[in-house]
Amino acid sequence: MSSSSLGILGGTFDPVHVGHLRGAIDSRDLLGLERVRFLPASLPPLKAAPGVSAEHRAAMVEMAIEGIPGFHVDRRELHRSGLSYTIDTLREIRREEGTEAPLVFLMGVDSLVSLHRWRDWHSLLEEVNIAVLKRPGWQATLDTAIAAWLDQHRVLPEALLESACGGIAVLEQPGLEVSSTDVRAAIGLGRSPRFLLPDPVLEYIHAHGLYHSPSCPS
Ligand code: ATP
Repeated sequence: MSSSSLGILGGTFDPVHVGHLRGAIDSRDLLGLERVRFLPASLPPLKAAPGVSAEHRAAMVEMAIEGIPGFHVDRRELHRSGLSYTIDTLREIRREEGTEAPLVFLMGVDSLVSLHRWRDWHSLLEEVNIAVLKRPGWQATLDTAIAAWLDQHRVLPEALLESACGGIAVLEQPGLEVSSTDVRAAIGLGRSPRFLLPDPVLEYIHAHGLYHSPSCPS
């Protein structure tokens, strides 16, 4: 068991892009996280089935974070059959990390907006803290239950790691206007998505003919 702080970024990563990477790095630096785990979902309950296999998506995340100290990929949801529910995974991670470790689930503001549709969303703060990343183009128009919950549990970013769980902080990092949808669309239209994602990931996409465009330019 460890009591060192851990950030967890769950996602489809279809594919991973610089918005995910900058979000994770900004969270680490602003909050003082010692470790960050990327948690690719096998079958996300609230999104369309990913375009490429879980193994390809995890391999791309692995390449994207290679060499960043303290960053790792957690493949547990890929080995689970059926839908992945974040609450189940966070309960499991809490058991492994022990009661003292400050855990922070990282999410873009678009995820906060749809949080009331997540299974057992009320219970998330029993396992983790939450840090919300701003995302250009997304307004935080919140469901009233989520807005009240945010007001009740909100703390300043610098106080988030003082508790093992229970707080929500909204980070002031500017964020990048990039999405996996943009990357897939660029490739699908035969345009280059270069600089929206790390070069080795783009090379991997070409090498495996992912997103149906063997001819997209670099
Ligand atoms: P898609 O375009 O396919 O919906 P996405 O770009 O939103 O995908 P996900 O893998 O679904 O990527 O995102 C995983 C997590 O990362 C989510 O919490 C999401 O809000 C967050 N995230 C994704 N892109 C950004 C970004 N540019 N800035 C901040 N957070 C982001």
